[in-house]
Order: sequence, then C-alpha cells, then structure tokens
Amino acid sequence: MIDVATFGETMAALRADGPIRLGGTMRLSVAGAESNVAIGLARLGHRVRWTGLVGRDEPGELVLRTLRAEGVDVTHARVDSRGPTGLLLFERRIGDVVRVTYHRAGSAASYLSSGDVLPALDPPPRLLHVTGITPALGPAPASAVAAAARSGVRVCLDVNYRSRLWDRDQAAAALRPLVPSLSVVVASDDELDLIAPPTATTEADRVAALLDAGVTEVVVKRGAAGATGHTTRETVHTPARRVRVVDVVGAGDAFVAGYLSGLLDDLDLTGRLDRAVTTGAFAVASPGDWEGLPTRSELDLLDTGPESTLR
Ligand code: ATP
Repeated sequence: MIDVATFGETMAALRADGPIRLGGTMRLSVAGAESNVAIGLARLGHRVRWTGLVGRDEPGELVLRTLRAEGVDVTHARVDSRGPTGLLLFERRIGDVVRVTYHRAGSAASYLSSGDVLPALDPPPRLLHVTGITPALGPAPASAVAAAARSGVRVCLDVNYRSRLWDRDQAAAALRPLVPSLSVVVASDDELDLIAPPTATTEADRVAALLDAGVTEVVVKRGAAGATGHTTRETVHTPARRVRVVDVVGAGDAFVAGYLSGLLDDLDLTGRLDRAVTTGAFAVASPGDWEGLPTRSELDLLDTGPESTLR
C-alpha cells in the first residue's frame, strides 16, 4: 500500500554559484515541490508515489531516474511528447539571496490531466499531497487537482503561491473551492488569505474558518520563526531549529515531508511539528532543494554539536 501519493511538475534544475549572465559552470539536478516532498518522505522510510508528465527528452529521463533512485514509485508517471521537460535556473545573487528563473510554459507537465492522476490513487493511498502550484499550470492540471481532491482520499494541500504563474485573485478562486475536500492545509503566514474565505481578515479568523469548514489541521509556516499548528483541540507553536543557513530553497517542501511523516507515524501535533522543523532545517542547512534531506536515522543529526566529526 502506498502511504502518500502526490503529483505535479518536476523540472530539470540548473544552479549557478554567481550571476548567470557572467556564464561559468552550473550544476544539474531536478526540482519540483511535490517531488521534493516525495523524496523527503521516501528518505524517512515511507512508501511514496509521484505522478507527473515529463518531456520526451534527456531532462525528463533525469527526473524519472532521480525519483526512482530515491525510492519513489513512478509507476504512473509518463513521458509526453506535447512539450519539453520544464527547466528551472537558480543563481546565487548576493549572499544567500537566490534568484529563480522558470522555463515551464507549454511544458509536458502542463498537460497533466485527471486521467493521469486518478489511476495513481487506486488503490487509495493513506494520504494525497497536492500543492497550489499544480492548478496554476493550466486548466488540465487544475481539473486534475480538483478531481483527485474529490476522490475521497485524505488530502494535504500546501498553498505554495507562485506569483510568476498567476495573481492572488486567480489563486484564491482556484484554491478556495478545494477546502471542503481538504484535511490538512499548510500555508505560509502570507498565504492563508488565498485559501480562507474573504470574510476572514485576521490570521486567527482565517484559521478558525478553515477548521470550521472541516479542515482537521492548519499549519502555518513562518520561515526562521518556525511554525504554528492548529487543530480544533489545540494550537502549538514550534520555533525553527537553529542552523547555519546555506540554501533556503526547498525549506517549505522539506517541512511538509516531516509533517506528513509525523502524521503517518501517529505523532501528536507537537511531534509532527518537531519533525517538520527538523526536516525544514536540514533543507536550509544544505545545498539543493532535496539533496540534504535526512534519512530516518539522521533525524537527530542536528543535536550533534557544531563542528563535530561523526565517526
Ligand atoms: P520555500 O518556498 O523556500 O520552500 P516556504 O516559504 O514554503 O519555503 P518557510 O516558512 O520559509 O517555507 O520554511 C519552512 C520551515 O523551514 C520553517 O517553518 C522552519 O521550520 C524551516 N526554516 C525556514 N527557514 C529557516 C531558517 N533560516 N532556519 C531554520 N529553519 C528554517
């Protein structure tokens, strides 16, 4: 049985240590919010399935090979000739400020439809994880998210607003109707208004409105300030783990992987948030979106003192 199914767009990712316009060497990897979560969960020992479309090209082969190598089930992922695999460029601009450029319009993944994702939910996984990026990719992916959310599986949505793909009104119009199907909502503190009803104007009102609508847990990410989890019974705030920041990209996805891992392991809210801030901290303390994510036996690595050598 699959523990977590997820789907979305995964792109080839090129990273430059300095400004791209100056040229030089780039490192090639893959990146996608949902596949980052999938890898994070697989490393923690959960059975995860990622579904998506890649182009008939070598970057697409890299995406599938990477996910297979990380132990993610790609049985329902496929190559589609209608567009290329998307491309993501990262450049370290100043200090730890990273600039991202996307080449994803018309990519194979923008043709992902409910016909691709519904078979991947049979037999039903314990959880389905979707992000607010997928409905922004086009009408077919938006219908796929809506159909999957209605499939009866327990759904987690990470709002993950991307201003390059759509504006806030478009995002809210697509995301708010999903609420009745959601069990877990994860959002940054500046994204809650995109999923909560417009009548709610404070964070507390927005959280209350989502819980009233049947969402069982609302998790608010606050970057270096940690995260707050709300259920109808309790609210828990957990500070971020203190680490040396290397690369903040992917922290949110790593956080979700830790949170869902805690949920699958039946940890209480405090335990789920502890695991989430731990995996989030691994992401910011190591380069790459997902490369530094911990295996289960590495989860307590952050408790080792600074400048330790593990022998
Ligand atoms: P991204 O979109 O870059 O993946 P996000 O905005 O979705 O990130 P954040 O709120 O930045 O998500 O980060 C998620 C979690 O990661 C935080 O709740 C926190 O636990 C951890 N985290 C983020 N930044 C830091 C930091 N500087 N130090 C330690 N932990 C961090």
